[in-house]
Amino acid sequence: MPVLRDIVGHKQVIASLKYALTKSLVNHAYIFSGPVGIGKKTVGLAFAGTLLCRRGQGDACGECDDCTRSERGLHPDLHIIRPEGASIKISQLRAVQDSAAFTAFGTGRQVFLMEQAEKMTLAAANCFLKILEEPPAGIVFILVTDDPAGMLPTVLSRCQQYRFSPLSREEVMQVLANTGTGACYNINSVRVAAELSGGCPGRALTMLDGPDKRSAMLDLLMRIVRERPGSVFLPVNELVEREDLAEFINCLILFFRDVLIWQITGSTELMVNVDRHSYIVELANTYVKPEVMDILITVERASSLLASNVNQRLVLDYVLFKIAGQGDD
Ligand SMILES: [Zn+2]
Repeated sequence: MPVLRDIVGHKQVIASLKYALTKSLVNHAYIFSGPVGIGKKTVGLAFAGTLLCRRGQGDACGECDDCTRSERGLHPDLHIIRPEGASIKISQLRAVQDSAAFTAFGTGRQVFLMEQAEKMTLAAANCFLKILEEPPAGIVFILVTDDPAGMLPTVLSRCQQYRFSPLSREEVMQVLANTGTGACYNINSVRVAAELSGGCPGRALTMLDGPDKRSAMLDLLMRIVRERPGSVFLPVNELVEREDLAEFINCLILFFRDVLIWQITGSTELMVNVDRHSYIVELANTYVKPEVMDILITVERASSLLASNVNQRLVLDYVLFKIAGQGDD
């Protein structure tokens, strides 16, 4: 379990939490929200560890009995609540009520870290609100969610909210290095994963550990490019079904950005996909510079369109036709 001082990024959130810790302004309930893999739970656990450490001031000492127990997930005053099946149920919140009635073990605090808090049923959320009406002394809730909009407004308004912002690529790479993951992969893969992660180290880790999606996506792209400008194969159906469509679009942006970099500088220095250099050169020889810029503008526009509620098929059609050289201007 990390301590607050070792966490990469999220500086404002951590500064604010530390301020509350040193000034004895700790709240009864917090909401940590932000995209999947951004580090909300990591910060939540570090904060919980700090709340339970009797030796540290403003941060866990990382060495005492409390810290060792927290680290092992065995601290009697640190409770993790997760969905049981599809939801967090009222019985789980009743158990919280019961255990909150017992005196805490060490610091006089009890910390409840709730994962996927948006999955509380209505009854569970009402039970949670009831606990907060007369909170037992020393109780602290940390609600972690990537979908705060899916939570009751009354729950949101009773908690102090922290919204987590994406890390920079360098920070994501730093996290990968700290976890030891960076050393297991070649530096190019780490760079690409960091770039594609959208500032979420957890997503970068999943990408490195999971199947090589970038290669699959590059294969698709090269099929379109090599068949152009005849009657091309356009994998619209294949793509529109994918959950990782945003990732695919992100890949496209990075590939074509590299193509432009190669066309302008003739050097790999600023490239992300250095390990796919031969493809980049092939693409650079296929398109003239204005075409590449046109594709980039189209794909970036598509990227923001796809983030809103648009007809994905239409947007994809337009992007793929543009790449195939059949886009209308
Ligand atoms: Zn400690």
